[in-house]
Amino acid sequence: METAKAWVKKLKSKDKVKKKEAAAKEVVPKPPGGEEVLSNVTKEKAAAAKLYIENHYKMQMQSLHERKERRKMLENKLADAQVSEEEQNNLLKDLELKETEYMRRQRHKMGADDFEPLTMIGKGAFGEVRICREKGTGNVYAMKKLKKSEMLRRGQVEHVKAERNLLAEVDSNCIVKLYCSFQDDEYLYLIMEYLPGGDMMTLLMRKDTLTEDEARFYIGETVLAIESIHKHNYIHRDIKPDNLLLDREGHMKLSDFGLCKPLDCSNLQEKDFTVARNVSGALQSDGRPVATRRTQQEQLLNWQRNRRMLAYSTVGTPDYIAPEVLLKKGYGMECDWWSLGAIMYEMLVGFPPFYSDDPMTTCRKVTN
Ligand code: ADP
Ligand code: MG
Repeated sequence: METAKAWVKKLKSKDKVKKKEAAAKEVVPKPPGGEEVLSNVTKEKAAAAKLYIENHYKMQMQSLHERKERRKMLENKLADAQVSEEEQNNLLKDLELKETEYMRRQRHKMGADDFEPLTMIGKGAFGEVRICREKGTGNVYAMKKLKKSEMLRRGQVEHVKAERNLLAEVDSNCIVKLYCSFQDDEYLYLIMEYLPGGDMMTLLMRKDTLTEDEARFYIGETVLAIESIHKHNYIHRDIKPDNLLLDREGHMKLSDFGLCKPLDCSNLQEKDFTVARNVSGALQSDGRPVATRRTQQEQLLNWQRNRRMLAYSTVGTPDYIAPEVLLKKGYGMECDWWSLGAIMYEMLVGFPPFYSDDPMTTCRKVTN
């Protein structure tokens, strides 16, 4: 329904521009009877409206049917159970009340005002992630707030739409659940389940390496997550420890879809990594990084020092991105399995396989 609405809206705004053009160009031919032939724009508009109305009534009929089914089920259950007539009536009345309340809630359009913002838990390229409490129910969620102007500026609108659609469509225990999404003039909002266990990047920084058993567990859960999005024909392209979140019980879920920051090595400039560069330091006079032989322990220390900075840079870290994605040469689902391999290496060794103090060098290592 939402999509149909969006289409109608899209058509409307397109129509405005087209109307002006049409007024200048299009002379609608008049048949002999004097009646005007419909222009293509009008036909498209009519088709969109028809689809919208049809969907609307289809969904209404379906929910009415489901409501009847639920009542029938309760009646059957009550008939089987030994319950007095009065109690039966009360239970049925109770169901009706719940149904009415459910419909009322469905009609209610969610907005930022329905949530009380609490602690900030993440800051990303397009906005922030905060814990928030729904005022009506007291339930706690994670609210991802994305600045529209920033997404437009970076041409990420399609990615954000993809993220919202994927989250809404895929119902898997390995994927962070989306409860609702809405927008105001300035921001888009995604209300997701809150995962209080932190992310894998933080865990890896705290623990240096994981045992093989621990790594097997998390990699197994990541495999399930990747499989569940591939089943929906979606490729993540940006699977990395920052996007693997842990729930209350320690299970891992994949998050952050579509907001991936696809890198193009050919267009990448050193300034894209400025945040990281300031920390990594050492450059030769010609700007190339100083090549030094380091022990594994030194690598690990350097990696940890740079990692968080890179996570917050505008392009993110290239350490887990598959070469074909970096080179924009066309890619398939394999690229997510590549990332998984890089993550597993980091879990066992302490830093990822193509690590370098300088992200551009990492890009070169990956693509070579
Ligand atoms: P970005 O596109 O900016 O990377 P993310 O969706 O990855 O945005 O969110 C940034 C950070 O916020 C994550 O690395 C994580 O620490 C935190 N975060 C995001 N979503 C949730 C959530 N549902 N529950 C808990 N923390 C979250
Ligand atoms: Mg992220």
